[in-house]
Amino acid sequence: MEYLENIAISVEVRQIINADLAHHYRVVPKKESGEALELYVSTSNATQTTAEELELYLGKRILFCEVPEQVLNKALYEYYRKEEFTGNVDNGQTISTGKDFLDNLVMEAKAIGSSDIHFEVYEDEARIRFRIDGLLIEKYKLPKDSYLEMTNKIKIEANLDITEKRLPQDGRINYEDFDIRVSILPTLHGEKTVMRLLGRDTSHLNLEDVGFEEKQYRIYKEAIKQSNGIVLISGPTGSGKTTTLYATLKLLNDNKRNIVTVEDPIEYTLKGINQVQLKEDIGLNFTSALRSFLRQDPDIIMLGEIRDAETAKMAIRASLTGHLVLSTIHTNSAIGTISRLVDMGVPAFYIAETLNASVAQRLLRRLCGSCKEQVPFDSKDFPMGYTIPKPLESYYGPKGCPDCYYTGYKGRVAIYEVIPMLDDIVSVIKEHPQNIKDNIKYDYQTLADKAFDLLSDGTTSIEEIYSLLINA
Ligand SMILES: [Zn+2]
Repeated sequence: MEYLENIAISVEVRQIINADLAHHYRVVPKKESGEALELYVSTSNATQTTAEELELYLGKRILFCEVPEQVLNKALYEYYRKEEFTGNVDNGQTISTGKDFLDNLVMEAKAIGSSDIHFEVYEDEARIRFRIDGLLIEKYKLPKDSYLEMTNKIKIEANLDITEKRLPQDGRINYEDFDIRVSILPTLHGEKTVMRLLGRDTSHLNLEDVGFEEKQYRIYKEAIKQSNGIVLISGPTGSGKTTTLYATLKLLNDNKRNIVTVEDPIEYTLKGINQVQLKEDIGLNFTSALRSFLRQDPDIIMLGEIRDAETAKMAIRASLTGHLVLSTIHTNSAIGTISRLVDMGVPAFYIAETLNASVAQRLLRRLCGSCKEQVPFDSKDFPMGYTIPKPLESYYGPKGCPDCYYTGYKGRVAIYEVIPMLDDIVSVIKEHPQNIKDNIKYDYQTLADKAFDLLSDGTTSIEEIYSLLINA
């Protein structure tokens, strides 16, 4: 039996046998050499009868290469599910890459909760991948010709120049209840397109449901209800900060206040809120937008991200002059945010005076309920130096099944840590700005605490929380 986790085959090899045959005999072609055809097969199907039937049908000598059941299932799914959608590749027909294909693709992405669609082209083939729960999963392979045709269709839909192939282009496609931001970038073998699905339906954005623990929710709500000050949410890219911010704005949007945002990109359109798209190429960056906002009598300002010292200082100044500022920052923890501001040169005194709350968040992938499997506890699975809060006999790990596209995970859960600006925390910031972490005595639920709870109850795996624990 071959010890591989994934079977990788090219489009040409795939065309040797069709989907019906592949599924019926549960085989995936490996390679064709002269009169012999080598096929991947699971051990239970590698029988003499199967080989004889296939030899009769295909007129070739069949050689089996045995692989584990899981591996074969995954390959069947990867290579032979696609044809239902992309047309009959086996007869050498061109895949339909027209408007219908594009619309179907977008609808499929939307239906399964994918956030982005990537169209990529290489030397001899092209592929389409969906981002699902933060990870890219390959969905379709296409011949290069069809890819070019499809790129043109996308450009037309997004009102872009189809003759321009050497420069990046950005556009937008509007559907009935959502928008798509299209970004096209020339790469070595052609243009790569990324479509970001942007929602207009904000009905699911409720602050109460984003994932705060009850106590955290109360602290956070109090922080955003202040008429001035700054609320910062930290976390790496893809940690769900934007969702939290949108849910916050939705709650604050009461038609009585002037709410302005500058974002990159505008992911959701919020009625009654003045949203500005960042355009760095024409000088519209976070700092310049903020400067203009302040002349427009805002009550609440949402800045997509604090990236540099200048923006940080300006945001602090805006919050000092009677505005509520909401923003995000790239740090690992709620305390890390405060230290980062100190490092950016914001005087500790101003941080202490203006910060209403510091929040950190992450998204952890949820184990797929249909296939997760129990694994015995092993302290070596945890990072060195991490103290396990309570003994565990076992926890759960990912396996993979058709329900979860063989990733072992389905959906994500947001976890938070929230630090309120209590008097003693404020004095620690003022007195020990260089060493806040060791001086804060406030007892709060950290990201690591919550992650461990989710590991204990089988929601997520040790792999998912490992990097969090290293950085905690
Ligand atoms: Zn599964």
